[in-house]
Amino acid sequence: MNEDIWADTQPWGLEQASRSPLLDAKVMMVDDEPLMTDLIQAHLEDAGYVHFVVANDPRQAIDLLHREQPSVLLLDLMMPHLSGFDLLEMIRADRKLRYTPVIVLTAATGAEAKLRALQLGVTDFLSKPVDESELVLRLRNTLAYHQYHARMVNYDGATDLPTRRLFDISITDVVARQGLVGGVVAVLNLQVPECRQLRESASQAAADELARDLAQRMLRFCSELPRPAAAAASDPLHRVARLDSTAFGILLEGIADIDTVESLTKELLAQLGRPVTVGMHEIGPTASAGIAVSPADGHTPEVLRKSAELAATHAGSQPHIRYQFASAELHSRSYERLALGSQLRGAAQRGELRLHYQPKVDVASNRIVGAEALVRWQHPELGLVPPLRFISLAEELGLIQGIGNWVLQTACQDAAQWKRDGLGELRIAINVAKPQFFAGDLADTVQRELQGSGLSPEKLMIELTESMLMDSVGDSLGQMNALKQLGVLLSIDDFGTGYSSLSYLKTFPIDELKIDRSFIMDLPGTASDVAIVRTIIDLGHSLGMVVIAEGVETQAQLECMQALKCDKYQGFLFSKPVPQEEFVALLRRQA
Ligand code: C2E
Ligand code: MG
Ligand code: MG
Repeated sequence: MNEDIWADTQPWGLEQASRSPLLDAKVMMVDDEPLMTDLIQAHLEDAGYVHFVVANDPRQAIDLLHREQPSVLLLDLMMPHLSGFDLLEMIRADRKLRYTPVIVLTAATGAEAKLRALQLGVTDFLSKPVDESELVLRLRNTLAYHQYHARMVNYDGATDLPTRRLFDISITDVVARQGLVGGVVAVLNLQVPECRQLRESASQAAADELARDLAQRMLRFCSELPRPAAAAASDPLHRVARLDSTAFGILLEGIADIDTVESLTKELLAQLGRPVTVGMHEIGPTASAGIAVSPADGHTPEVLRKSAELAATHAGSQPHIRYQFASAELHSRSYERLALGSQLRGAAQRGELRLHYQPKVDVASNRIVGAEALVRWQHPELGLVPPLRFISLAEELGLIQGIGNWVLQTACQDAAQWKRDGLGELRIAINVAKPQFFAGDLADTVQRELQGSGLSPEKLMIELTESMLMDSVGDSLGQMNALKQLGVLLSIDDFGTGYSSLSYLKTFPIDELKIDRSFIMDLPGTASDVAIVRTIIDLGHSLGMVVIAEGVETQAQLECMQALKCDKYQGFLFSKPVPQEEFVALLRRQA
């Protein structure tokens, strides 16, 4: 849509000896007399101008201006329906057309008319009848000046990057075609304080050199992003802008989701942070980023750009934050993960992890026969943080191994202690995360903890999820067999929610099937769930497995489990997961 604006503002420098690039400019003329427009067109063609657009009806002029985006407009003042003054007013009020240079061609050259036209931003005048060489000269000057001016206002002198005005036009275009391209549009504001510091401590030239280096990194980053097909023609140059002396803008289009925007931002910040030598100075730029997303944060360039800027300023003022989303919701999510993540490191060593135990109960006798160990994090400010808020974060940050080992060790030691205290030989179950399961040393670690605690292997059960096992069937089988050789038991947790093929279920050395809470929730009222649960129980039994229902909250659900001959259950009806002292009290009560 804005191709001509871009064309106008390409580096222009010296004109070629053979043919001036100015001759490629599009000239539009609005005049109600066809004879006049024909004549001017002929003159201009003789002079080498090849793109000429005519409106003889002034009422069509605005539409045509939008469509053609000419580099210059030749305008008659005296026309029926709509005068040249009316048109000038409309052009100056139009965001897209406002800066079009206008040369007035008119017989009415009274001082008053001239003054009024000048006030409306007319660039130049030509009297009718038009002198051919005068016309060509005025046109050429106007175009040359306009190109120079456009270059000055549209491009940054140090980096050659587009400035805010062009960036805004790019944002408008990208937001307009968002429906077509799909995905997320994000406006990034990147602030690099070193640009200012270098100017103050060294020189403007040094600051410019740093800015040029950063601009190159940003352009490279953008040019390596996959370009959505519907935006293929767009130029990566227009995705990067210099917004002021310390701030850059980047426009991302067609990104799959917010998480991808976040990971791209991290990647970009990592690239910008690489040290660079400027003159005598070794600089490690500390860029911070603000991210605004369309349409959540707005859809106009001003709002998106401003929101991103505010977020970047905030991120830059916080010691441990390098980027921030503009919207409160997204921001709090990424902030929480960031803050929690850094605190999670060392939580085990600082003694902040807790194990709660939830009884696994025999359906027939209603007695506790085992327990599931469920981890919690006793956060100094947030209190007891549930595992769903930090397990996936721990996986992402590579911290799950340490947490998992702590859980394994603590659970084995507690269960061994209960036996020594005469509370019976309970089977303790622990949950294992995917990275921990596939790390390769789980069996060794389990063996070490069993020996260390004195717990018999058959009193330890390891809960694995279906989706984890199906992720890599060959590896899973190897890991499971290694664990089975130690004598420990295996359970499939949340059964029914993932995809598991029956043929695999047969070959896996599984001891227990744990029916997911979602199937138990609506029992006994929902017939389809009754049928599913019955099928899982029968299936488990036919494969020689013990079947346990999780999330049993009501007496009616328990009765349903009795009727369907489920072996065990777990759920709030009997007890929530509780700290070990409370669990021991439950055991003593049934002794
Ligand atoms: P899970 O292994 O399926 O654990 C069962 C979850 O259901 C527990 O939530 C438990 O509190 C909850 N629950 C039990 N009975 C009921 C009930 O009757 N009604 C309802 N509404 N909920 C019930 P929790 O403790 O928040 O644990 C959530 C998940 O976190 C666990 O799901 C497990 O996947 C993971 N997790 C917990 N501890 C560990 C751990 O030590 N290591 C790993 N890798 N993951 C863990
Ligand atoms: Mg579990
Ligand atoms: Mg479960």
